[in-house]
Amino acid sequence: MLMERIWAANSFRNFHYLIACAQTGEALAIDPLDWRRCLEAARQKGWEITQVLNTHEHLDHTGGNAGMVGATGARVLAHAGAASRIGGVDRALHKGDVIRVGTSVELECLDTPGHTLSHVCLLAHTGQPALFCGDTLFNAGAGNCHNGGDPGRLYETFAAQLARLPDDTRVFPGHEYLARNLEFTLDREPGNAAAASLVEAARRHDPAAARVTTLGEEKEINTFFRLRSPAVIARLREAFPEIGPEPDARTVFLKLRELRNSW
Ligand SMILES: [Zn+2]
Ligand SMILES: [Zn+2]
Repeated sequence: MLMERIWAANSFRNFHYLIACAQTGEALAIDPLDWRRCLEAARQKGWEITQVLNTHEHLDHTGGNAGMVGATGARVLAHAGAASRIGGVDRALHKGDVIRVGTSVELECLDTPGHTLSHVCLLAHTGQPALFCGDTLFNAGAGNCHNGGDPGRLYETFAAQLARLPDDTRVFPGHEYLARNLEFTLDREPGNAAAASLVEAARRHDPAAARVTTLGEEKEINTFFRLRSPAVIARLREAFPEIGPEPDARTVFLKLRELRNSW
């Protein structure tokens, strides 16, 4: 599997991704809002974009579909539950579907509600696995649930799916928010040495060259994976004394998500 991450350099801080087959040069573009930039990247690589995949229906992910389809004739793939809202979808996706790119790439479709109720992540079972996670999981953070989402469903996606993937899985989200998310982790857990060691570099980095985290690393630096940390719970009780000394993981997640909404 060949892969190119494309920094859109826009105010949404989008990351776009091209996934290509080394044998045929066919490529799939994930959420190519800046479709011209994606097309140019493909041209430089000698790839032909034949599929567009939307992780979910928000316009900052689907707004490039028409331009990309007009330029390439690519087929559009999206969650079956989001297809009517997106429009122009050629293939409606369900949990467990396999998406083929060329002759050598297979991607597994995960059904990952929470940020919206119809959101897919793609999992590449390559030597080192890769997760393309849209607005579900960010580097050191979690998606919000303001526009059609549900925090309880997001917790279930984190606990039952994402946390169970191999620790060496690389995390490729739809936006670059690393510094801000690390700052939230440190606000919740000031003694988190792993987050502290990354935050300065993240504030200064060129987003186009931003760090690619793994799930193992996320479990150290992402407060939404640290639901049983005594330090996280103790600090959370300052804001929500009613959760008691031994809150369950779901309660901790929901309270963290609530705090992050206004942080
Ligand atoms: Zn979104
Ligand atoms: Zn987004």
